[in-house]
Amino acid sequence: MKVYKFGGTSVKDASGVRNLKKVLQTIGYNDTVLVISAMGKMTNAFERLVAAHLLNDKEGIEEAIQYKEIEGFHLNMIKTLFDNGDHPIFEKVEDLFDDLNGFLFDNNSSDYDYVYDQIVSYAELLSTKICSAYLSENGIKNKWLDIRKCIKTDDHFRQANVDWKLTSRLLKRKIKSSALTITQGFIAGDNYGKTTTLGREGSDYSAAIIAYCLEAEDVTVFKDVAGVLNGDPREFKNTVLLHQISYKEAVELAFFGASVIHPKTLQPLQKKKIPLRVKSFVNPLEKGTLVVNGVDIEPKIPCFILKKDQILISISDKDFHFIMEDDISEIFDYLHQYSLKVNLIQNSAISFTVCVEDIFNNFNDLVKDLNDRYKVLYNKNLTLYTIRHFTDETIKKIEKGKKVFIKQLSRETAQIVVQN
Ligand code: ADP
Ligand code: ASP
Ligand code: MG
Repeated sequence: MKVYKFGGTSVKDASGVRNLKKVLQTIGYNDTVLVISAMGKMTNAFERLVAAHLLNDKEGIEEAIQYKEIEGFHLNMIKTLFDNGDHPIFEKVEDLFDDLNGFLFDNNSSDYDYVYDQIVSYAELLSTKICSAYLSENGIKNKWLDIRKCIKTDDHFRQANVDWKLTSRLLKRKIKSSALTITQGFIAGDNYGKTTTLGREGSDYSAAIIAYCLEAEDVTVFKDVAGVLNGDPREFKNTVLLHQISYKEAVELAFFGASVIHPKTLQPLQKKKIPLRVKSFVNPLEKGTLVVNGVDIEPKIPCFILKKDQILISISDKDFHFIMEDDISEIFDYLHQYSLKVNLIQNSAISFTVCVEDIFNNFNDLVKDLNDRYKVLYNKNLTLYTIRHFTDETIKKIEKGKKVFIKQLSRETAQIVVQN
């Protein structure tokens, strides 16, 4: 069994969906699970719908461009892909929008994370329904699977944790070999029938979960780049393709922010030694990058990662006391409580500095709590550069013309927090 994953960029428009068909015809699709993300930027559009809904802006929901944008996008997509206006997909899409409207009408909960998962998941359902119908219509027989019935999680909405045993059992029962199964990434279900999600950009992780549970031969994620490069081509010039990297190297790159692979993807694959391939959906026959056990990185060159929107917080005692282990423990409790992602830590006798990312907009609450006991200073809008396998020249290149706040070097990794 093979697992393929196509991301939002690969199906951002009708020609992307047509290309998906071409890729499958080129590389084969027997005994395959195909994970497809929400189309284009639809998850962002649904996030805006969540916000309108929770503001109770009823008229806004009906009229707002967000909603029109979403419905309009998908209707346009099916009108372009299907000549026959009577094709059952039109009704299926309508049914999904009816369900969504039903939720918007009935929901009384103001729990943001819960509501988010119930609404945003429609983007993946719509996308997979449309792709599945298009492929069937064009000679690629497939079975659409509601992954929420197989990947089971706790009810930690927006960051759900997988129940591996149950998930394995359900996936094995539901997915039969020698066919093409099409399913969603990113979404899952709890034991009470509620939809959960695994974290933004989580469909690479879904592909890994499925591969792990079904002991797949390999996983291939198809991207708009040739594979894993030694830097994000949107941010760095003259990037070079990495032919092969170890799981450990891939985890490091992903953890530090190489967004081409979701960081959670690697662990399940590494555990069962399932190779991961990162390939171009434009040139699927090219080799791309292979992630396996073996050489750390081939070719061995410095790799650059950039993370924007970093906040550097310096925390010190109001009475000039040392910052001791119990303080650090308390500070970390707060960081955990407010789900701030810590990317770098530095401490001195009287202050403790962390570079964090405020994904869930909790920073102000954190500062409020910390202010009770500590003096808190911070700088926002900073950038964290990580260089794996750095050299003196590469550090100089990154630092040039920027104000450096913190620099930390370990054997293989340099991290530099700067203001551009
Ligand atoms: P998906 O369509 O699966 O969601 P993403 O858009 O998340 O794919 O990932 C592909 C993007 O990742 C590329 O367009 C590229 O800009 C970015 N990227 C960041 N770091 C790297 C890297 N080291 N190598 C390749 N691409 C990278
Ligand atoms: N559609 C989800 C997102 O945009 C998951 C994914 O694409 O990986 O975050
Ligand atoms: Mg993505």
